[in-house]
Amino acid sequence: MKGIGVFGGTFDPVHIGHLRTALEVADELALSEVRMIPSAQPPHRHAAESSRHRAQMLRLALEGQDRLRFDDHELLRSGPSYMVDTLGELRAQAPDRALVLILGVDAFAGLPSWKSWMELFELAHIAVMTRPGHPPDYPGVLMAEIARREVSEINELADHDCGRIAMVSVTQLPISSTGIRQLIHAGRDPRFLLPAAVLDYIRSQRLYFRSRMDHS
Ligand code: ATP
Repeated sequence: MKGIGVFGGTFDPVHIGHLRTALEVADELALSEVRMIPSAQPPHRHAAESSRHRAQMLRLALEGQDRLRFDDHELLRSGPSYMVDTLGELRAQAPDRALVLILGVDAFAGLPSWKSWMELFELAHIAVMTRPGHPPDYPGVLMAEIARREVSEINELADHDCGRIAMVSVTQLPISSTGIRQLIHAGRDPRFLLPAAVLDYIRSQRLYFRSRMDHS
């Protein structure tokens, strides 16, 4: 479909659960690229590390990748990083390309709390990835949108510019940033859950060591 995937996150830190699933959704939906967008100021949570460090870890993770691309849209805006604003900017820059917002099932379940959430459907399709430990548990308003918008075949997305929902099965990787932060706080080694260059950066900058509290 030559669409553009949009994968936002706190990336606190980025891990292979983000990277592998982004690539699999790109393949499954035949997306030409996926924009990996660090949230500068996540509206709903406190990040453990600064946007500068989180962005640098993501840059290192994506080095040498051409299909998964670092995108600084949210870093360049001030105020809370609302996805509806990001999609609006991307849409203005690429008016002829379909956008596909890629969300894990946990993030998707929270969609009705996002700013102007119904507008998201006017800007993009949504691809929802299965995630271990997060069985689908959707509020009623979201169930209603799923009933109206879910496609039965992925290739039906190409028949529309935006507004459809596709459920995508991805390799189940029970990895989370919270789990990695907890391992570091406990003095344990998170190696192989995240790219080696990211772990080297965490160690060199002494990230996530400051407090033994989990900030999420
Ligand atoms: P935290 O544990 O700090 O909440 P996280 O691991 O969920 O972090 P985020 O940066 O908050 O990572 O997630 C960004 C996006 O990636 C969300 O849509 C989330 O659902 C998705 N995601 C994260 N990890 C996985 C995974 N292992 N499998 C599938 N989707 C994932």
